[in-house]
Amino acid sequence: MAEQKRDYYEVLGVGKSATDDDLKKAYRKLAKKYHPDLNPNDKEAEAKFKEANEAYAVLSDGDKRRQYDQFGHAGMDGQGFSGFGGFNAADIDLGDLFGSFFGGAFGGGGRRRSGPVKGANLKYGMTLDFMEAAFGVEKTINFSKEDVCEVCSGAGTAAGSSPETCPTCKGAGRIQQQTQTLFGITMVTKDCPACGGRGTIIRNPCSSCGGRGRKVKKKDLKIKVPAGVDTGDMLPIPGEGEPGQRGGPYGDLYIQIKVKPHPVFERKGYHTYCDVPITYAQAALGADIDLPTIDGKVTTHIKEGTQPFDTISLRGKGIPIKNRPGNRGDHICRFILEVPLHLNEDQKAVLKQFESTLNEKNYQKRSGFFNKVKDIFGI
Ligand SMILES: [Zn+2]
Ligand SMILES: [Zn+2]
Repeated sequence: MAEQKRDYYEVLGVGKSATDDDLKKAYRKLAKKYHPDLNPNDKEAEAKFKEANEAYAVLSDGDKRRQYDQFGHAGMDGQGFSGFGGFNAADIDLGDLFGSFFGGAFGGGGRRRSGPVKGANLKYGMTLDFMEAAFGVEKTINFSKEDVCEVCSGAGTAAGSSPETCPTCKGAGRIQQQTQTLFGITMVTKDCPACGGRGTIIRNPCSSCGGRGRKVKKKDLKIKVPAGVDTGDMLPIPGEGEPGQRGGPYGDLYIQIKVKPHPVFERKGYHTYCDVPITYAQAALGADIDLPTIDGKVTTHIKEGTQPFDTISLRGKGIPIKNRPGNRGDHICRFILEVPLHLNEDQKAVLKQFESTLNEKNYQKRSGFFNKVKDIFGI
């Protein structure tokens, strides 16, 4: 015990006030990184793994942690750590280590070694044109996924043969093993190493899948995208994920939608927006103009004296609302006053002459504006 031991908190990379949760997270991170199964023949990784195990074993135990906080490594004597080198890395199930990380929405269900397990969920990214997203579309997607081998129907055995009961575990899939742990010798139950927990052994494997019972297959699938979808939407396609294990159901496929921008229309939720350039004369005199909508053009009258950035809302001319047939958002057009360029001398003369006929009464904003900035202008 002459060697200098690293501080347990330092080993896990946490502070003295770390919560149980912090400890667990830090430990799992290290265990994943240094697990011997992931670092074969790496002595340094093995040492780091053992060090992390030891630190976690002490700090995750309230009594031991208190003792360690008070007395440091000296306080740990007589706790059975001197023989720590014998601790077996394989006691920590890699699957358990990873299981909770890959759980959740796309994890393919929880990790239970026995019993049926639902297959993994899959995600497919689909990019749609603006109009396809607005009105819905039917698309055929092709993708590759793990599926049941059609030659052996998933059994993994060559024709005419069947799996044999595993002689190591007698078909149970799990074995009891005496193991030395931190806290003495205990019996642990683990997956049978001979059959990988299946309880059966394939002596004569299917030549198509090599005995796996499944293989990567290409799949064509017709997807009906409903009207109104938007970027970020996930369409669940039940049962089109990967096959389950031990009789579990197929996972699901999720279509992740991305909508391409449109050159003219913008979209916020179910409303559509569009900037429409108008001329000075149209704005001043009023006019019948064609407004673009996602259904085509709609002719509308804009009133005399339309100002820049005035808007017109066309109710129910926006995007169809998902799963609510007949309901749609609005279409909002905003008028942009376009000033003419490249005037010739005659046009300029006419415009100057016209300008000279106007006075403050012809404007709404000018007199108010110049009143407000009098101080600034010093008049
Ligand atoms: Zn097969
Ligand atoms: Zn077995």
